[in-house]
Amino acid sequence: MEFYCVKCKQKVKVLDSDVTSEVKSNRKLLRAKCPNCGTRMAKFGKLN
Ligand SMILES: [Zn+2]
Repeated sequence: MEFYCVKCKQKVKVLDSDVTSEVKSNRKLLRAKCPNCGTRMAKFGKLN
């Protein structure tokens, strides 16, 4: 899964198993840590 890291200023790939998700305001919020710098990243995904 791809996330955008604001610190690396590029998209980084994160393993699906390293992504956590929570439902917020009817949207799915995905969280992961950048494998390069450890910065926390988040993005909204689709509710399945
Ligand atoms: Zn990074």
